[in-house]
Amino acid sequence: MARALTELRLPVGFAGLEPPATWPRPRSAPRPEALEAGVETLPRVGPAVRGRLAKLGLRTVRDLLWHRPRRYERPIEEKAIRDLFGEVEAVIEGVVLDTTSRRSRGRLKILTARVSDGTGEIKATWFNQPWLEAQLVPGTKVRLRGKPNRYGFQVETYDLGETTETADYAPVYPASEALAQKQLRALVGAALEQVRAEGDALPASLATSERLPLRADALVALHRPRSPDEAERGRRRLAFDELLVLQLALARRAAERGRLVAESLPDAGALLTRYREVLPFRLTEAQDRAIAEIDRDLARTTPMQRLLQGDVGSGKTVVALYALLRAVEADRQGAMMAPTEVLAEQHFLTIEGICAELGVRVALLTSALTAKEHANVRQLIASGDVQIAVGTHALIQKEVGFRDLAVAVVDEQHRFGVEQRSALAEGRSPHVLHMTATPIPRTLALTVYGDLSVSEITAPPANRKAIVTAWVTDDRSSEAYERLTRHLRDGRQAYVVCALIEASELTVARAAEDEAERLRRAELKDFRVGCLHGRLKPPERRSIMADFKAGEIDVLVATTVIEVGVDVPNATIMIVQEADRFGLAQLHQLRGRVGRGAQQSYCLLVSGPKEELTDVAHDRLEAMVQTSDGFELAERDLEIRGEGQLLGARQSGLSDLHFTRLRQDTALLERARDVARSLADEGELAVAVERILGGSEHIGDS
Ligand code: ADP
Ligand code: MG
Repeated sequence: MARALTELRLPVGFAGLEPPATWPRPRSAPRPEALEAGVETLPRVGPAVRGRLAKLGLRTVRDLLWHRPRRYERPIEEKAIRDLFGEVEAVIEGVVLDTTSRRSRGRLKILTARVSDGTGEIKATWFNQPWLEAQLVPGTKVRLRGKPNRYGFQVETYDLGETTETADYAPVYPASEALAQKQLRALVGAALEQVRAEGDALPASLATSERLPLRADALVALHRPRSPDEAERGRRRLAFDELLVLQLALARRAAERGRLVAESLPDAGALLTRYREVLPFRLTEAQDRAIAEIDRDLARTTPMQRLLQGDVGSGKTVVALYALLRAVEADRQGAMMAPTEVLAEQHFLTIEGICAELGVRVALLTSALTAKEHANVRQLIASGDVQIAVGTHALIQKEVGFRDLAVAVVDEQHRFGVEQRSALAEGRSPHVLHMTATPIPRTLALTVYGDLSVSEITAPPANRKAIVTAWVTDDRSSEAYERLTRHLRDGRQAYVVCALIEASELTVARAAEDEAERLRRAELKDFRVGCLHGRLKPPERRSIMADFKAGEIDVLVATTVIEVGVDVPNATIMIVQEADRFGLAQLHQLRGRVGRGAQQSYCLLVSGPKEELTDVAHDRLEAMVQTSDGFELAERDLEIRGEGQLLGARQSGLSDLHFTRLRQDTALLERARDVARSLADEGELAVAVERILGGSEHIGDS
């Protein structure tokens, strides 16, 4: 649950950061035990309440105080039901007549209560709060705040039974069935009392120069604001703490890296000239720029730590192979690491041909090899006979000793655990190029990749036509398949993506198989249909992919295993079934499987009836139709979903930012970064970490 400044552990997978064993609490805090005390130390908290709090993840006084209000209530006008109009927010008071509940196709649970106040009747609706039904017995008095809309009266907040006037700026917490707002507010109030004398981890001078309130005051402002501005100032202080922790850790990481030594590589020569010649296209300006930046890094004696960022299909792999070949040319070795076996195989298939042409020896190391083959490949890597090794990160990390690893390419790094990554960086210090297709708004990039240099491939190869995306509902899916079969008749290939997101891998696999079988008999009966999912054994998977690449399969029915990396330029159309179930980032990644050649490509999103979709799903699909620019979609995703859960944010640890709002806090983030960097520049990083994070981190010796 919530973590304080002093113990914010950097999550696994956080780019470039190794979680320290502990962040000792600051010595400056006089009564840390007040924060760490269990909730049962608060008045009137017995085992029952404690259990309910635990269900919300709230176990300590600190957890309670870090339980951020979702928003604040503002006094608004109470209206008679008769007087409601338009989509204007209002408060109504009335009694429940009866309730009904149903489930929409989008699996939303919709609870409806008829409410009357004597002047009229309205259908109050709640989404996904089925437990309320038992409480809304006929005759219950309710006070509801919400808005009339197409669902009736969509309830935002409510008081049931003995109703109270909604307080001015009362905090609204994520609550639960068993623990009402009112009770949470009371508990937080008690927690605030306990920590009034809480000390501050941020040095007073810093707090002053940043014009930030003391932490104890910030907590009061957050939970008991007298104005929205005051609440915001409190939030900003707490956000600054979080950001400073991250930025200090990044600065420390950068400082540690600065001391690592790598061998510089001699300039690119004949092999790289031939590489450019055998490529069936000219590199784009953006690719050339990235390559020049890599060349500069490789000439240095500190290891390259570069992030190669570019939208799906922008041509990163070509650049990555360049970096690997630089190692080969210097008579050393390269490693290419992917998050999954499917991806590793795909990378291997992509580079194998070109490497063969160049006389470069590449090997794929997967768990599909027999023990003997495996040992053999490892031996060839150890002896240097294999010049480029491709595999999953885990495999290469754990099992391989290179003779002389000079360049490592790490694909989709945010999916990796940090321990694995740093293991690579230790000892050997190869030059490392991280690749990601996850488009990240600038703010996020600063947070997650703040310690890496960034090369960005901004424009796709010029021969590309923008993918045409359309959204159709189920009743018109036959038209989508007609369009797809037209492409197949023209000799093109296609994807059909189907997935039950929430189901287990096994059920998903079965569903995909069933769907492939159904399509073989129906819409796609004249075509060769393959099915790809995560339950297949690697050799089966590989042979299906190879067949699809070779044009021996027309349509690939697949689960999201094709999300990243599958590269078949002749595939020009994709149908995504139940598209409303996918996240925006995922849809964008999926769509990136088409539009990889010069042909016009299409992405057809199929969903249930529009009225039954959640607003979020609706907005996502609309955004997909409107733009195919990954960066713009990333911004939209932030708008639609809010910070904290965006694009791989879970893996990257951003979801641990409780108070930070990435869209708004750019300036704050940059301040935190500047403060962290200047502390590092002044050689005071160790002291700063000691002082701000507390404890005795030894920055200088590693
Ligand atoms: P990414 O890894 O960024 O998703 P890839 O490197 O896999 O993109 O490239 C996508 C497709 O575009 C591949 O089929 C690749 O051969 C092709 N491609 C890459 N660079 C160029 C270029 N400069 N001109 C034309 N096609 C290119
Ligand atoms: Mg690629």
